[in-house]
Formats: sequence, C-alpha cells, structure tokens
Amino acid sequence: MSETFDLVVIGAGPGGHAAAEHAARGGVRVAIIEKNLWGGTCTHRGCIPTKALLACSRQYADLKRGKRMGINVGKTSFDFPAIKRHQQQAANISALGVQRSLKDAGVELKCGEGRIISPHEVQWISAEGKTNRLKAENIIIAWGSEPLLLPGVEPSERILTSDGLLALGKLPETVIIVGGSAIGLEFATFLAELDVRVSVIELMDQLLPSEDLEVASFLKQNLTGLGINIHTGAKVERFHELPDGILVTATHQSRTLELTAEYTLVCTGRKPSLATDELDQLGIQYDHRGISVDECQMTNVKGIYAIGDVTGGIMLAHRAIQQGKAVASHLYGDRQVTYKQDAVPFVVYTHPNVARCGLTEKQSKADGIETEVRITQYGANIVARLELRGNGFVKALFHKDVLVGVTIVGEGACELIAPMSLAVANGMGKKELKKWTIPHPTLSEVLNLL
Ligand code: FAD
Repeated sequence: MSETFDLVVIGAGPGGHAAAEHAARGGVRVAIIEKNLWGGTCTHRGCIPTKALLACSRQYADLKRGKRMGINVGKTSFDFPAIKRHQQQAANISALGVQRSLKDAGVELKCGEGRIISPHEVQWISAEGKTNRLKAENIIIAWGSEPLLLPGVEPSERILTSDGLLALGKLPETVIIVGGSAIGLEFATFLAELDVRVSVIELMDQLLPSEDLEVASFLKQNLTGLGINIHTGAKVERFHELPDGILVTATHQSRTLELTAEYTLVCTGRKPSLATDELDQLGIQYDHRGISVDECQMTNVKGIYAIGDVTGGIMLAHRAIQQGKAVASHLYGDRQVTYKQDAVPFVVYTHPNVARCGLTEKQSKADGIETEVRITQYGANIVARLELRGNGFVKALFHKDVLVGVTIVGEGACELIAPMSLAVANGMGKKELKKWTIPHPTLSEVLNLL
C-alpha cells in the first residue's frame, strides 16, 4: 500500500514533533513515524523525568529548610515509589500532550519504524509488522541520540547510563557519577537532595568545562554544600564490579583515587543515532558528530532534512524544536522562523541553576572580542533575600554597548534567562535595556544590569 504526503517526519522527539505540527498548521499533509515512545528522549529518558525528580528532591530539601522561616513540619521523609510514580506520570502527560497536539494540527501519526528508501519515499513498518510505502515531497530525519560511554565500557548491572539510572525502582545509597557536565550534575543534585551519598569525577579542572571559572567554582561550592564529593581533574582508569557494588579507580595528578558505591552513573556525553547503512545508501553525508546540514537544515540530498540531536552539536530539546519549526517555516511558512546556534540558551537544572545565553567571558577572550563585564549579585535583591535564596549572580557581557552574553547562577536562573536570550538573540543593547521596567519586588530585578 502506498500513501502520498507533502512531508514525512521520522522520529517524534521534540524536533520531529515541532516540525510536523508546524508544517501541518501551514496546511500541508504530514505524517510522522515513531518506533518507540511519543515524545522521544526528552519525554521518557531526558528533560521531563529528570525535572520531575528534581522537583521532588527540591520540595523535600525546601521543607527541611523551612525552619529558618519559622515553618515547622515535624520530621520530613519521602516515599521513593511515590516519587517514581510522579516521574512516570510526568512522562505520560508529556507523551499524551505530544500526540494530542499532533492530532489537533492534522498530522497522521504512524507507530512503527521508518526507513528512507529513496529521496521521496519512506518505508513504514507498522507496529503490527505490516510494510507500507509513504511518498513525500520532503522528508525530515529526527532520529535523536543515545548515551555515549567511555571507550571499552559497556552498561551493566552496576555501570549505568542516564537511561539505566532513571529506570531504577529503588533509591541507591551511594552513587559515583562520572562526568561533571549538565546531565551528571542534575542527577547528582537530585540524588544528594534525597540523602544519597554522591561522588562526581570530572576529567577537566572544573565542572561545566565550557563555562567561566567563577560560575563553575560557585556551583562546585554549592553542590559540595549539598554533601556531594567532587573530584575535578581526575581521570577514570577502570571499573571493577564487586558482588554488591562497583569500584572506580581514577588518577588525580599522580595520586590514585579509589571509590566504591552501589552504582556508577556514566554521563560522558551522547552520540547521534545514525542508521549508517541507510545514510550510505542514500549518499547522505555524516560523520561521528552527526548528519551534515546547511543553514536550512537540508542534507546534501535535496528534499531530505535533518534536525535535533542527530545533527550533533549542543544536544538540547529547545534547539531541536527551533530547528524543527525553522524547517517547517522554510518549506511551508513565511520563512520568518530561523535557527541561530548563538541564540540557544544553555541551562543546567542543578540547585541552584546555571543558565547562559550568548558568549562566556572565556569565549569572548578566545575570539578576541573586547567586552565590558557587569555583575549583579542576588544578595542585593530583596526577594532573593526574603526567600533565603540570596546566593547567586548575573554576569552580563556587552560588546560596544550591545548585550552579547549573559550567565545567571542562582535560584530561578532557568526562568530568568528567557528574557535575556530574547535580548541577546535580537542584538539589544544598553539603549533598549534602559527602557525596560521590571516589576518590584521580584527576583527579575537581578536583571537590572545598568
Ligand atoms: P529524540 O528526543 O531523541 O527523539 C528521537 C525519536 O526518534 C525517538 O523517539 C526514536 O524512537 C525515534 N526514532 C529514531 N529512529 C527512528 C526510525 N527509524 N523510525 C521511527 N522512529 C525513530 N534537553 C533540554 O533542552 N533540557 C533538558 O532539561 C534536558 N535534559 C536532559 C536530561 C537527560 C538525562 C538527557 C539524556 C537529555 C536531556 N536533554 C535535555 C536533551 C534532550 O532530551 C534532547 O536534546 C532531545 O530529546 C533531542 O530531541 P530530538 O527530537 O532530536 O530526538
């Protein structure tokens, strides 16, 4: 059987979802194929389950802190199976939302596997095993990504990836996290707030190696305050599985570090999910970093586009979404939606959060861009003080009076970065910012940079 569409999207993570929905809203006939779960990594193994867990651990940590504000709640405790139910419910709600918004837009949802057999033809093997052909003017590849382990290391009962840790039904007592970037540190925060003894081993000399040193140092101090044992500049040499746990051996300078725990969580990056046979057959260019695309997300084969994690680069859901919307706008819309790498905010949902858009000071120096640095402290903000969250800062970089980068470390940084990324993406400068009235008293007043 063969059906004809204007667009066929393969993969229903945030990228594929955004592309299909926006294209269909443009009035064209769209099908989307998903072989696993609607919503992809973000909904089931990424953004949503981790943020559900962080919301629980944060609530628990806040209750314990309440005493300082005169709130007595008696002995605080938590119910881990109920926390896991909250995690699962969040993923279910998100997956249902994905399906509903696609259906509302008029997209045809197809469960099963998609395989591109020619530049305008996709083979769809339905969940029931039936093979069908979908003809399409354009095809979008949104295959996503998967965890990348250290060379020679395989996941096992004791060596977990983020997928494995999220699937645990029982809260461990001790965990060693290998990798001090966003994903590893978010897990470290959630686990430590739920009283798990956590160690983090990071190869580079600082956590979040791309960020400015004072940002990483501030975060390290705060995470250490949560009881996390952090080893930076340490190289993992080997894993040795024990009957009831794991021994991780690392070297730090010339010393050997030996740590044991129930599990080790390896967060050393992700790799694009590349069906290389299929790409080779079609002559689509790629390398280990991902599928190569032009500024419109088109591969070297006309009519075949790629978006999201499968294209490599910074693997973030909102980047995949923006790329998906941009392709839809380019093909079937007014071409006003564009994707610009520099405008993608980067957020780490630790407690406190780290959020950045645009340049770091380190990057600006490396690129020879002269900047004026302005720093405002959370401690000077009355809301931050009265909520006992006066720990943090905003660092803004201006180049010739234009805002080129903002980093926020502290409470609510993940929300506060949104207006700043709008300003950076639109090249706003001091002139525009001076016209901005911020409500008082709010935490947003920390963004009063001038
Ligand atoms: P994916 O979400 O990976 O979806 C790809 C989909 O394609 C999958 O459902 C897969 O089954 C399907 N597929 C693949 N091949 C085929 C085929 N042949 N046929 C049919 N279907 C196919 N990002 C953020 O922005 N914020 C966060 O807080 C955040 N937290 C994260 C936490 C963790 C632990 C992890 C692992 C990731 C996190 N991310 C976060 C990253 C985010 O999840 C990804 O960047 C995002 O999901 C990428 O979207 P995508 O559409 O490219 O691919």
